Amino acid sequence: MAKEKVVVIGINHAGTSAVRTLLAQKPELEVVAFDRNDNISFLGCGIALAVGGTVKNVNDLFYCNEVKLGDMGAKVFMEHEVIAIDTVSKTLSVRDLRGGREFTESYGKLIYAAGSWPLPIPGVPEKSMKMENVMLCKLYQHAKELIEKADEPGIGSVVVIGAGYIGIELAEAYRQKGKKVTLIDFEKRVVPRYFDNEFTNILEADIRKSGVVLALGEKVIDFAGRDGRVAEVVTSKARYPADLVIVCVGFKPNTELLPAAEKTANGAIVVDPQMRTNIPDVWAIGDAAAMLHASTGRHTQVALATNAVKSGIAAASSINGVSGVEVANVAGTNAIHVFDNNLASTGLSEAGAAALGIDAASVYVEDADRPEFMEDYTITRFKIIYERGTMRLLGAQVGTRGAVNHSEVIYFLALAIQRRMNLLEVAFTDVYFLPHFNKPFNFVLTAILKAAGINYDKTASR
Ligand SMILES: Cc1cc2nc3c(=O)[nH]c(=O)nc-3n(C[C@H](O)[C@H](O)[C@H](O)COP(=O)(O)OP(=O)(O)OC[C@H]3O[C@@H](n4cnc5c(N)ncnc54)[C@H](O)[C@@H]3O)c2cc1C
Repeated sequence: MAKEKVVVIGINHAGTSAVRTLLAQKPELEVVAFDRNDNISFLGCGIALAVGGTVKNVNDLFYCNEVKLGDMGAKVFMEHEVIAIDTVSKTLSVRDLRGGREFTESYGKLIYAAGSWPLPIPGVPEKSMKMENVMLCKLYQHAKELIEKADEPGIGSVVVIGAGYIGIELAEAYRQKGKKVTLIDFEKRVVPRYFDNEFTNILEADIRKSGVVLALGEKVIDFAGRDGRVAEVVTSKARYPADLVIVCVGFKPNTELLPAAEKTANGAIVVDPQMRTNIPDVWAIGDAAAMLHASTGRHTQVALATNAVKSGIAAASSINGVSGVEVANVAGTNAIHVFDNNLASTGLSEAGAAALGIDAASVYVEDADRPEFMEDYTITRFKIIYERGTMRLLGAQVGTRGAVNHSEVIYFLALAIQRRMNLLEVAFTDVYFLPHFNKPFNFVLTAILKAAGINYDKTASR
């Protein structure tokens, strides 16, 4: 009997995870994988760290390669682009980018892991986006150039467009390298999708204190240049000198190859917990997929490596008939460590819930993380967002400044959101108390009691 052939399109984080799981579970499986890039498994999260000098060697930001996948038994085709998919005849058209040869490949099962690509800035002409020193931030190739530019004396002014987590990290990295940095966003706050203003106000003040010019509520209209090289960024309110511009305004899923797939408004492919699409024998994973969001009950693309690797494991397990390995839902759990702020959030922010028309309430508390009788303690900011009627937890945010980091508290709150728990169920989680680490009435419990109308802490705000 012919072996079942599984073809994987895209072998970065999601695809690599799928290939490894497929073959770890079933070494005899025929797995063929294509990627148009010449490298796989590059950790983009390390780009800003390498620009700023914390990561000394950008080549350390890989954890897999085509040889390792080949050793497991996969047939890996690097620099091969899939240019068409016929889901009726179950065939792909593939172009070898090194020689231009085109050929057809058949599949029994298909895992679509083509990921995402940085969005252009709406309204900015394409020819401006192509100016010298206007850059994107995604690939190893981008990383090498961005690192080189950080040490170029001719690059004095850097403009980062987009104050999401990637943009803020890059702004900090170039500032550490002594550049004049401007960070622009058309939104009125930084990281607005993940954090409410109790957290972003402090972060914004710290960004400004570092010397970064923070231009919020400004829409980038165009770039001005000299001899094809960028020299200025023009916004709705001002012009900023720019020897280097980095565009970080979000990511678009690469899903054009599957026009028949059910998709969300931004083009991500709707999948079930096993990552199956509506097309028979086609699974979609990683940034290309929209999983069920636990807070909203809607399918949403949450473009994070965490979801990419888990979705790869789930799809591979589904194909291999390994039951119980599913991503029932996601909560969009994320963290950011910038300008001395340690922040993490999960689920919906208060602003996010309001934008979706969800009837949500919130409680914000600031409290010492350890009893005041200890030699020192750290003021910790914490916020919960919950459905008003049911008190179901919808979101949580935590923040400290300095050496003490409480971001890991977000893990159990993410699980609570994924399991659709209400605040009182969360309150009675059996956590420990030890003065070295926390308080008996810690900031999570304090916030929940306040939401329940039991207010011991008169300073907590609602
Ligand atoms: C700068 C940066 C920092 C980040 N930091 C974090 C972080 O700290 N934490 C976190 O969780 N996430 C982070 N992310 C997000 C994370 O990197 C992505 O969610 C992850 O890369 C998604 O993996 P993926 O495999 O689904 O997609 P991608 O990484 O986009 O990979 C898709 C692959 O498919 C290939 N491909 C596409 N089309 C085709 C085709 N037609 N034929 C063949 N091959 C094709 C591409 O070449 C690529 O290799 C960061 C991302 C960036 C850019």
